[in-house]
Amino acid sequence: MSAGADRDYDLIVIGGGSGGLAAAFRAAAHGARVALCEPDALGGTCVNVGCVPKKAMWLAADVGAKVELARIFGFDLPQATLDWSTFLVHRQRYIHNIHAGYRRRLDEAGIAVMPRRVRLRDVRTVVCDDGIDLRGERLLIATGGRPLRPDVPGADLGCVSDDFFRWTAPPPRVAIVGAGYIAAELAGVLQALGSRVELFARGERLLAEFDAEVAAQLTEDYRQAGVHVRFGYGLDAIERDADGTGLRLRDIAGGVSERFDAVLFATGRRANTDDLGLEALGVALDAKRRIVVDADNATNVDGVFAVGDVTTDPALTPVAIAAARRLMDRCFAGATARFDRSDIPTVVFSHPPLASVGLTEEDARARHGDAAVHAYRSGFRPMLHALAESPQRSLFKLVCVGEERRVVGIHLLGEGADEILQGFAVALKRGITLDDLRDTVAIHPTSAEEVVLMR
Ligand code: FAD
Ligand code: NDP
Repeated sequence: MSAGADRDYDLIVIGGGSGGLAAAFRAAAHGARVALCEPDALGGTCVNVGCVPKKAMWLAADVGAKVELARIFGFDLPQATLDWSTFLVHRQRYIHNIHAGYRRRLDEAGIAVMPRRVRLRDVRTVVCDDGIDLRGERLLIATGGRPLRPDVPGADLGCVSDDFFRWTAPPPRVAIVGAGYIAAELAGVLQALGSRVELFARGERLLAEFDAEVAAQLTEDYRQAGVHVRFGYGLDAIERDADGTGLRLRDIAGGVSERFDAVLFATGRRANTDDLGLEALGVALDAKRRIVVDADNATNVDGVFAVGDVTTDPALTPVAIAAARRLMDRCFAGATARFDRSDIPTVVFSHPPLASVGLTEEDARARHGDAAVHAYRSGFRPMLHALAESPQRSLFKLVCVGEERRVVGIHLLGEGADEILQGFAVALKRGITLDDLRDTVAIHPTSAEEVVLMR
């Protein structure tokens, strides 16, 4: 049977982002008849307005910073200013190639692609926005999320990360509201690419879920780089100047900020669960309207599954992909293995990057008690920055527990941390101890060697 000729499928995937595509490909590889419904660009958030364009901007910013270091070393180079429109051609060409790759692979796998927004009619049927019904033995919801704005007057005057990826030049002065992943990442990118950045955090620190000491060093590195970081900021409103040229933030005490050319909200995301017909079917949602799934990514409704940002799982692309693949292996290949949600490594692409796996020191103390926890740290200037006499500092930290000093957390801030962590994350998952690290010969001279030399 050719895909699409029949409207009955073994699996209907709603959403063609990281999780939905991974599920569709894996199910089809197991011989399932699959329909994938995606009204927008293939690849979803990650490919179009997330990881991929973000990393492209991060790489451009990193190259710019390296050119500045090169000038200090004596290379005869002009000051590095990026022409965004030239770079965006490269960025978007890269993304178009990903789209083309997906289209080819979907075709080869015989997956029926419906460029349609859909909602659930019943537990076996989805209805497309053109009125066509599709029937599936199983339904997988992978509709992701969208940026959330704070509920304050004038919020619509600000931008969100989706808008950032449409910018064709850096605004001279940018206010970023938030202190999570996106705030930390875009503050670094924009400051390095020519904006003057001020970051407004309502809490008392950056990256509340990361190790406090490491996050504090990132704040220090940002301040050294010229980012103005303000903590304890209670946003009350965004206002446009009378002459229409700029925006200002008003705080809850009535104070008014300096003028900005753009305000960027990095204040979290909301799951795409509205208008899917979930309430009528009784699919359980949590207080943030995310779909509640069990360890098998099953919802409370038989035959209806969910993966990725639309669920309560951590909102990371490899999480959506891994959960989707395991689920499809269970549904269509008789496998029993579940997606293991422990010790998920993650990187904040700040400048410098912050890479983390396992427990923070605070979490380890809460879980194992103060007496059992031993933290080891190495603060240093990476050689590149020391040579250039640039103030950027790295902080690498190990969190260990018990007599045997089992490594339960690795937190790396610094040049190369994004690439260093993956291998150590494997080791942590395997239950290594501090002695295992110390018994490993260092690779010299690198930043990574600090992990095995910690005393
Ligand atoms: P999505 O990728 O959001 O895909 C959902 C798809 O569903 C969309 O294409 C949407 O059009 C479609 N859809 C929605 N409603 C319907 C409907 N009714 N019918 C049919 N289709 C529908 N993660 C990392 O691991 N590393 C990073 O560096 C990273 N950087 C990020 C940077 C930014 C700025 C952002 C916003 C996110 C970043 N993430 C990163 C997170 C990552 O992008 C998400 O975790 C990942 O995209 C989630 O995949 P998903 O399949 O759950 O959803
Ligand atoms: P986060 O959840 O990481 O951070 C949201 C931030 O916004 C927090 O600092 C929060 O403060 C603050 N905030 C929330 N509401 C308000 C408000 N009304 N006023 C002021 N501040 C507010 O969300 P992001 O939007 O940064 O990113 C969404 C998710 O996408 C991430 O959690 C991550 O899973 C994923 N992502 C992953 C990346 C990666 O892997 N490199 C990169 C980018 C995104 P408080 O802490 O006080 O609640």
